[in-house]
Amino acid sequence: NAPLAQVDPEIAAVLDAELERQRTYLEMIASENFVPVSVLQSQGSVLTNKYAEGYPGRRYYGGCEEVDVAENLAIERVKKLFGAEFANVQPHSGASANAAVLHAIARPGDTLLGLSLDQGGHLTHGMKINFSGRLYDIVAYGVDPETSTIDMAEVRRLAIEHRPKVIIAGWSAYPRQLDFAAFREIADEVGALLWVDMAHFAGLVAAGLHPNPVPHAHVVSSTVHKTIGGPRSGFILTNDADLAKKINSAVFPGQQGGPLMHVIAAKATAFMLAATPEFKERQERVLRGARILADRLSQQDVRDAGISVRSGGTDVHLVLVDLRDAAIDGKQAEDLLHDIHITVNRNAVPNDPRPPMVTSGLRIGTPALATRGFGDAEFTEVADVIALALQPGADTESLRARIDALAAAFPLYPGLSQ
Ligand code: PLP
Repeated sequence: NAPLAQVDPEIAAVLDAELERQRTYLEMIASENFVPVSVLQSQGSVLTNKYAEGYPGRRYYGGCEEVDVAENLAIERVKKLFGAEFANVQPHSGASANAAVLHAIARPGDTLLGLSLDQGGHLTHGMKINFSGRLYDIVAYGVDPETSTIDMAEVRRLAIEHRPKVIIAGWSAYPRQLDFAAFREIADEVGALLWVDMAHFAGLVAAGLHPNPVPHAHVVSSTVHKTIGGPRSGFILTNDADLAKKINSAVFPGQQGGPLMHVIAAKATAFMLAATPEFKERQERVLRGARILADRLSQQDVRDAGISVRSGGTDVHLVLVDLRDAAIDGKQAEDLLHDIHITVNRNAVPNDPRPPMVTSGLRIGTPALATRGFGDAEFTEVADVIALALQPGADTESLRARIDALAAAFPLYPGLSQ
């Protein structure tokens, strides 16, 4: 039981270097966050040793009395957080939660109606070579080319034409709120089930800063590691007892074997923290930061460089930057920001003329920096640096110095060493 540095110095070096990287760079990938040390503790605990196939009180293994407590806490806390009657907290990830949802509510060959990947949807909502695109018959809706927002009349038209078994509402790259009631109305009109994937905006919902899909959807899935800021993993909610049974059997034994009990314990803590006033205050900073960024990137100097903000702003934790008319593409912009110590990801914009490995856009998010402690003043400074960095002839050295000063003023995981 020697420490990692002794047993495997190569992997220990990776952990050290990654901690240093996270401390040095400002993290603005919209789907990332920093878990609290309490979550790191559960994830690195002896719970990883335990097999617990089944559900609390109904396991296929002995010795589950302690992990049952953790799973029950996670279930009760997440139900309360989102006002749901049933919860499954076992999915290993967002994608496996989504696979279980489809397994529970559709059969291979059924028609699904979801937001197209290249317009902001997720792989699991029907991308051609994902399991969802291979097993199901996919009809995709997109966003209006003028407003960059989802046109509900178009969703309704497609639903009436194709009569899907499932309508999917949810996104990976979309800067506005969805109208869950309108989605449900369309689902009811055509006899479809409504599945909302709130992976990205679940933290905002938990804080009461975004409409809650749970009262409207038949099923809601989510990740825990994006805006919620918990361990990498997923969960599924429903208010329907029959669907709850189907979801439980779709997750286990339908989709997974033994649940990751160390992660489930960490989820329980993340759900507890998400119910606190401090969490709400942090999510308020997330939203204000995104608006500050959208406003700065809409100013004349940025517009003169051919850069714009999709949909003209944001209601959530991210901003989509459109570079179709700019001198740089998505890949170049990502590299350029990396060079000044900001991490973002390039992202296709709707009707992107460039290939997916290049793209003509950036997705920039504020959750991780809000967790790091950033408020309006720091987001104003980051937004200005990004605005200047994306314009031709930027002074890289001085911009990097401004970012390094922010990182130094907000130390990440002070006192922690791997
Ligand atoms: N659903 C949405 C909307 C997502 O954006 C993502 C992740 O990007 C997922 C599901 C999948 O989550 P994971 O990466 O944990 O499989």
